[in-house]
Amino acid sequence: MKQLVILSGKGGTGKTSVAAAFAHLAHEYGVQAVLADADVDAANLELVLQPQKLGNHDFIGGSVAVIDPDLCQGCGICEQICRFEAILLQPPAPSPRIGRGVERGAGYSVDSIACDGCAACVYQCPEGAIHMQPQIVGQWYRSESRYGPLFHAELRPAQENSGKLVTLVKQQARLLGLDTGAELIIVDGPPGIGCPVISAASGADLALIVTEPTTAGIHDMQRVLQLSDHFRLPALVCINKANLYPEGLHQIEFYCFQNRIGIAGSIPFDQTITRAMVLGEPVTAYAPDAPASQAIARVWRSVTVRLSGGEGDNERS
Ligand code: SF4
Ligand code: SF4
Repeated sequence: MKQLVILSGKGGTGKTSVAAAFAHLAHEYGVQAVLADADVDAANLELVLQPQKLGNHDFIGGSVAVIDPDLCQGCGICEQICRFEAILLQPPAPSPRIGRGVERGAGYSVDSIACDGCAACVYQCPEGAIHMQPQIVGQWYRSESRYGPLFHAELRPAQENSGKLVTLVKQQARLLGLDTGAELIIVDGPPGIGCPVISAASGADLALIVTEPTTAGIHDMQRVLQLSDHFRLPALVCINKANLYPEGLHQIEFYCFQNRIGIAGSIPFDQTITRAMVLGEPVTAYAPDAPASQAIARVWRSVTVRLSGGEGDNERS
């Protein structure tokens, strides 16, 4: 079972459009694939594939400190030792139990957003008034799309640990793939080069880097290629909206040539992609003869050839 991760140095390059089209093409060509949306901070593959959710599961992403007001003696030690300024001395507040306008005593509490979960306060509190409480910070889903099973997730706002959630989503996809004898896992990765991207790329056989010929696109493509090189992950480049800025296109081609990086293909700017997205369809299913669909099909062939150990038609390395 091969694992393909689709990445981009930045958001908005068309990565998810390519991933959705690949899901459709795998289905069309009889390749049994499991899909994983690893962009847990902004999962949107489901918007295109419109899957049916079969089950949802809580994601426990860590713990935060909680102060028991009945045990706290107000010594302030925890506030002094917390390096994240997560422990606050609350002003007296009206107590609904006592009645409007009547105040209860001031006390210490934890700002769960600021709390890093280090537990230092737990060990320092002389009264044993603080404990760590696990937190549900997101959910992950097993769904069924028209083109195969899809694993996806969403992290709650302002929550961290997206790398762990990405790993979990991929693990679930891999387990199902092993159980069902799937040939391919298609991972729609997060943008950027941070921890979630490293989690998404971990264990992959090939990264397809989707970029666009803009200054920012080229810069971010270089960063994600350096990342894949660092982790010895083979990579191919796919240039989206390739005809919009010829000079940028030549810069990408020259960079790839210099660094012996294969180009899987170029996709022209084509509003059919937008129309397909609005209707919740992969462009290759919505309009198979559109220029963008034809170009993505060529990229798909290059990728599958590389995954099977050969060199694609368009590759230059
Ligand atoms: S260290 Fe313990 S007793 Fe002291 S203020 Fe903090 S929670 Fe209260
Ligand atoms: S667990 Fe760490 S970060 Fe959280 S309140 Fe305690 S000392 Fe601060």
